[in-house]
Amino acid sequence: MTCSYRKHFPALALFQETDLQEGTAIEELDESEEGRDDKSLVCAGCLNPITRNQYRISKQGQHKHVFFNPSGLVFELGCFSTASGCFQTGQSTLEFTWFDGYAWQITLCSACNLHLGWLYRSREGDGFYGLILGALLEQSP
Ligand SMILES: [Zn+2]
Repeated sequence: MTCSYRKHFPALALFQETDLQEGTAIEELDESEEGRDDKSLVCAGCLNPITRNQYRISKQGQHKHVFFNPSGLVFELGCFSTASGCFQTGQSTLEFTWFDGYAWQITLCSACNLHLGWLYRSREGDGFYGLILGALLEQSP
């Protein structure tokens, strides 16, 4: 449902980037990265298991990134080394990429086709998932 995106990314989200730079969200994240067990992260739309906390990785120095797409929508992405509950669709492209040198491809939930984020791949074959954190829910194993 599109309104779940509105809930996570209200117009005021433009100001959240400032909060993030001041360290609120980053501190929260550091804590969670260290203290986290291996909880499952499931699709917010259908609860299909997508990935796990243990697959959270850092790219360009941090796990969580806040981006704007060309239409001005804000996305909070978490980087994951793997995500077995989703699949890629469409062409892989470097256009408007948020990670230098990485081409992106749209990633959808394999059960309900909800847009979960993007798969990023470099020419060297290195790859990772940038998943929309608001589209994932944490579940006990
Ligand atoms: Zn789903």
